[in-house]
Amino acid sequence: MQDICQRIEKAYQLFFKHNKKGVRPPGFRKVIKYKSFTLKQAGYKFLGGNKVKIGNRVYQFWKSREIEGTVKTLTIKRTPLGELFMVVVVDDGSKQEVEVKTGKIAGFDFGLKTFLTCSDGTRIESPQFFKQSLNAIRKASSQHSKKLKGSSNRERARKNLVRRYEDISHRRRDGAWKLAHELTDKFDILCFETLNLKGMQRLWGRKISDLAFGEFLQILEWVAKKKNKLVVFIDQWYPSSKTCSSCGHILEIIDLSVREWRCPSCQSVNGRDENAARNIQMVGASTIGLGDVSRAVPAIAV
Ligand SMILES: [Zn+2]
Repeated sequence: MQDICQRIEKAYQLFFKHNKKGVRPPGFRKVIKYKSFTLKQAGYKFLGGNKVKIGNRVYQFWKSREIEGTVKTLTIKRTPLGELFMVVVVDDGSKQEVEVKTGKIAGFDFGLKTFLTCSDGTRIESPQFFKQSLNAIRKASSQHSKKLKGSSNRERARKNLVRRYEDISHRRRDGAWKLAHELTDKFDILCFETLNLKGMQRLWGRKISDLAFGEFLQILEWVAKKKNKLVVFIDQWYPSSKTCSSCGHILEIIDLSVREWRCPSCQSVNGRDENAARNIQMVGASTIGLGDVSRAVPAIAV
């Protein structure tokens, strides 16, 4: 009840705020379209082991991870395939103590073609899982649309299509975990620009949803926490592409198509992404109090 009231409240507030832009009030939703519900303080009880009581019934679940700390909320989610997941939010009460050890620091710049450019010059190309599976998806989708509405054949075709999409997200997720481990093995402090997803979408179009920067950062933060490494986010308005990483000169404007530019002040040639990554590294280092890191040093050991 608590969560439902809050959801309705949120929906109405959005409607009141944006109704002039044509946003409609929240409406009735069929149970089949309802994907999740959240229990806050009451309505569930963990019975130990892998049993949980929700309402008056006891359910068994498979535990992918130990539940540590006090449980704050319990959310039940249903995927399009009809699988049920339990998401438990806990408060473990501990604050992360980050000791900045002597180690390597690096800055990273997100890009379209190159997923990540590291300040030491390494590039990680974007895996285009969606593109790879495009044919399979097209086929599954046309099979689905050919089936009679409401038939069990159509339902089977729908599930087949959903599985193709899940395939992509699983592969993407797997790649993100591997990359997160690789980077945290290599560096102790990793600096990123704060994501401005809306702005990126406007700039680059829909393609970024396939690249999933946000998901990667979430995974990276988790891995970094486990390994006692530090992820630093710098201000999203810092002009990382326009600043010369050798002397600090700031250009007036830089077009998106410019891949390389010569600094008018110190004459050094800056590759767009690497230059940005080096700047992000420098700003990141100064925000965590590593002081003024000398310019023109690609990857420095502090
Ligand atoms: Zn310069």
